[in-house]
Amino acid sequence: MLNDALIEPGLADFRAEVRAFLEASLPDDLRRAASRATSVFIDPAVTLPWQRILNARGWAAPDWPGEFGGPGWNEVQRYIFAAECAAAGAPGLAPMGLKMVAPVIMHYGTVDQRAHYLPRILSGEDYWCQGFSEPGAGSDLASLQLRAVADGSDYVLNGSKIWTTHAHFANRMFALVRTSTEGKPQAGISFLLLDMATPGITVEPIRTLAGDHEFNQVFFDDVRVPQANRLGGENEGWSVAKHLLTFERGGKYAPGLIGRLERLRAQDGIGPVLRAELDREAIGLTALQALEIKAMRGLGGNPALYASVLKILGTEAAQRIDTLACDIAGPAAWADADGQTPAELAVAVPRYLNDRAASIYAGSNEIQRDLIARLILG
Ligand SMILES: Cc1cc2nc3c(=O)[nH]c(=O)nc-3n(C[C@H](O)[C@H](O)[C@H](O)COP(=O)(O)OP(=O)(O)OC[C@H]3O[C@@H](n4cnc5c(N)ncnc54)[C@H](O)[C@@H]3O)c2cc1C
Repeated sequence: MLNDALIEPGLADFRAEVRAFLEASLPDDLRRAASRATSVFIDPAVTLPWQRILNARGWAAPDWPGEFGGPGWNEVQRYIFAAECAAAGAPGLAPMGLKMVAPVIMHYGTVDQRAHYLPRILSGEDYWCQGFSEPGAGSDLASLQLRAVADGSDYVLNGSKIWTTHAHFANRMFALVRTSTEGKPQAGISFLLLDMATPGITVEPIRTLAGDHEFNQVFFDDVRVPQANRLGGENEGWSVAKHLLTFERGGKYAPGLIGRLERLRAQDGIGPVLRAELDREAIGLTALQALEIKAMRGLGGNPALYASVLKILGTEAAQRIDTLACDIAGPAAWADADGQTPAELAVAVPRYLNDRAASIYAGSNEIQRDLIARLILG
């Protein structure tokens, strides 16, 4: 629940409107499925129906400006909305389209690209995946090798992308490709928007430690992509990617974590030691909330610095809460044969395992610390 002290006078009515909407419109089956999800990347079978309900109300993309179909809310309204959705147990929507590629299409896209892609992202007609990492290029992303060679009005792509979340569901990918080997590695990268049905693309599943099929390796074998699908200039994809990564890393960790923490605190039979740890996390999350609101309002700091700081604080808090959930669940985490164990406890172990990845994806936390040091120390 959002700390009342962080809500400005005048926004209580807005919060009541959001609560009433969630009460009336969030279907029980979606809420139940979300409560049993073992990853922040929930299957589109759960998220897309909810996205359609939100879109019908004009609320699928709270962060988008009004001119592109957003509701025109200020930062605090957007935060209240996220907090209320989390408290109600609504499934979090996939970020790849709405939160990652959409802002860069707004910023770098042509008039035609905006008109084509943005409405399809809002409605969920297009489901996106992110093709950045490669087998030899993760933290050192600029060393990526997937080659795009100009041929007539197309590029021809050869190589592979890895750890591509939900590529097996996506009909679109945004990808960084190498269009030049001259000069610095960053200077030869372009940003492409691809149709996953293009001949020559193969998606191979990778199983996670938790047993989930969440990400993939994607192979490109003479894949033809129109040059018109490039976002931004040729060899200027690095700037587009940096812009996008700010959206991928920053954001709102606290609302979802507070929702989880509250559901854990509501469990019976928690001893005083674990209660004290839950309380300590609750205090930390209130501070994180305040920092996230400050960051959203652009107060006192470089957005890239905030994005890295919030990514570390949010993902480390998530991993501590996962550990607490396992401690609270105890044997219950292994005894859900009848489906009666409370969801937070029944999925404690797979969530714990899945969230090991949170300090790796979107740029590992070690790399974020490095970025923070460079931004502060120069
Ligand atoms: C669940 C999950 C989903 C993902 N989804 C996607 C996706 O959809 N699309 C996509 O493109 N990518 C995705 N990724 C990839 C992710 O971005 C990379 O895993 C991440 O950037 C790290 O790269 P790497 O795995 O190659 O590790 P490496 O870069 O090899 O790093 C290995 C270890 O070395 C450390 N390290 C590396 N360099 C330094 C340094 N300079 N200083 C200090 N420590 C360093 C890292 O912190 C890490 O601990 C996903 C990853 C995971 C785990």
